[in-house]
Amino acid sequence: MNLDASLLKQNAACGQKGAPVSPPPRLLDLLETSHHILCISHVTPDGDAIGSLLGLGAILRAMAKRPVLALQDALTSEFQFLPGVETIIGPSQVGRSYDLIVCLDTSSIDRIGNVYCSDAHDRIPLAVIDHHITNTYYGTENWVEPSCAATCQMLVAMADALNVPLTEEMALPLLTGLVTDTLCFRTANTDENVLQVTLRLLRAGAELDHIVRNTLDSRSFSLVKLWGAGLATVQIEDGIVWATLSAESRRQSGVELHQSDGLANFLVTVREAEISATFAQRFAQNGQELIECSFRAKPGFNVSQVAFAFGGGGHPPAAGCTVAGTLGEVSARVVAALHELRRQSLPAS
Ligand code: 5GP
Ligand code: MN
Repeated sequence: MNLDASLLKQNAACGQKGAPVSPPPRLLDLLETSHHILCISHVTPDGDAIGSLLGLGAILRAMAKRPVLALQDALTSEFQFLPGVETIIGPSQVGRSYDLIVCLDTSSIDRIGNVYCSDAHDRIPLAVIDHHITNTYYGTENWVEPSCAATCQMLVAMADALNVPLTEEMALPLLTGLVTDTLCFRTANTDENVLQVTLRLLRAGAELDHIVRNTLDSRSFSLVKLWGAGLATVQIEDGIVWATLSAESRRQSGVELHQSDGLANFLVTVREAEISATFAQRFAQNGQELIECSFRAKPGFNVSQVAFAFGGGGHPPAAGCTVAGTLGEVSARVVAALHELRRQSLPAS
């Protein structure tokens, strides 16, 4: 497997503390001069996707703009506590006449799904705001800050640059994205800037315990049953711990359609492991077997390299990809690549 050289270099950057960020002036110009703005994010939306979408909507409304918020996939029930989720539309309601499209928290264009339609939208400026190290710079204007722990963190800097005061309507979704992407300030990228931004969001009216209770500290019984099935397959070898989730076990558990299983987060806490992986089997509408791979790593191991090499992306400690093939074949191939990454990343003895 070829690990991308530029990404390999970024191993060294893991865990470094970033300086405060500021948006490029061209992005600010685009936002200030546009009126009817389509705001979108990635498929199977997580807390940062939904939080940044709702936060941007509130910022744009404070600027007297007309934002439209859209996602391909339905929101899972854990995010229903966020005011405004009912205003997010699906692909069938997205029209084609906008002055600007803003895509949030999405590292590559294929991750947007069908709320972005190249035929209808390719003449409209596309502004990308994202914090993934694997971002492919697919927009007409790209603001990418891998030093930020969440896209929501970038939007606070953007509101400042636009002279938009933070309100509670912005603060609740923006803090939700920061809390979920940092697993409540436990990831290695939780630096001084993250905590300063958090303090400002708290002062603007967001309540931390309300967010944690509704997201990280809340799961359905179905999800626990799915974990049970996954944990029955768990294995560890040379610092890599991994488990598989069959489509049948997912169906039997009854978890919601776009519910992320989060099992890789749990597995990386295994003391004997540096890297965790889960392989979830899914069948496309045409019957093709697809394996959704999730990776997590302790500091010093950049799993986004492996995700990127298999057509996905993410961050050094948390990344993923979707690979066509059978559960057995894909997991064997990807685990071999993770072993290679681990060997390359271990300090020379
Ligand atoms: P998770 O394991 O929670 O699904 O994803 C962890 C990270 O990897 C997230 O930042 C997510 O955006 C990224 N990621 C997961 N799956 C994919 C994928 O198929 N493609 C890309 N580009 N990124 C992914
Ligand atoms: Mn994010």
